[in-house]
Amino acid sequence: MPRAHDSLRNIFANTLQHFGLQRVQALSLDQFGGCLNVRPRRGGSSYSVHAWGAAVDLDPVNNALRWDRSRAAFARAEYEPFWKIVEEQGWTSLGRQRDYDWMHFQAASL
Ligand SMILES: [Zn+2]
Repeated sequence: MPRAHDSLRNIFANTLQHFGLQRVQALSLDQFGGCLNVRPRRGGSSYSVHAWGAAVDLDPVNNALRWDRSRAAFARAEYEPFWKIVEEQGWTSLGRQRDYDWMHFQAASL
């Protein structure tokens, strides 16, 4: 897997190329929710992947931490191309893997 910086740049570049700016904005894929945050994992003592700056949250308003696919915007079919782009770069979606924290994707595997 390429370094997190390069693969994340590819994710955003490919997303913009695939959807175009208007669609990116309509899908709230431009709503940044956080990246580097040195803190323990919620409800645990180990560190979140955010502590290494290797995780990104997008659009937290429409993808709340505890929402599953029945409520999270990013679980909808129109986001499938976005997740394909993310996964092509070796990043992992918590929503797609574990059906919670749909805002979150990370450069490390689960
Ligand atoms: Zn996160």
